Amino acid sequence: MAHLPTGDTTTVCGCDRTGCLQAAASDLALVERARSAGLRDCPDSLTVVSRALAGDALADTLLRERLRLVARAAALLVDALNPELVLLTEPSVALSENYLALFRQELATFSNVTRAPERVRFPHAGRDLMRVAAGTAALAPLFRDPLRFRMPADSVPHGSGPAS
Ligand SMILES: [Zn+2]
Repeated sequence: MAHLPTGDTTTVCGCDRTGCLQAAASDLALVERARSAGLRDCPDSLTVVSRALAGDALADTLLRERLRLVARAAALLVDALNPELVLLTEPSVALSENYLALFRQELATFSNVTRAPERVRFPHAGRDLMRVAAGTAALAPLFRDPLRFRMPADSVPHGSGPAS
């Protein structure tokens, strides 16, 4: 997915092409664009999001631009895989319905198979998404086969179980 084309013609990727998803729409690219555009004190992408939500027009424009790039790349995946659901983990989408609406509109514009905007959602974990995702990956083997992880009876310390 890193090298999916976004249509951006200015951002050079490590593969020497321009507009690859990882180069054009990454958090680093967003922060570099913000700094180049004159936004000061933008140490990370969440600062750009916060400023946009506080009414900074330039930060808003940069976020919208990034969502358009991601939507173009996502449209390629949607057309190839035709998933029932698209989960978008972009923080701005979690904090503003306007950004979600923009992404849905752009996806519908670039995709040949979807006109169903409700197909795109922000994961139910909300702002805890990354923590939940990490926990899910770590616990997946346990959920897949819980009996495999049962402790042998002789490993349970004496006096810690129910009285018999
Ligand atoms: Zn590339």
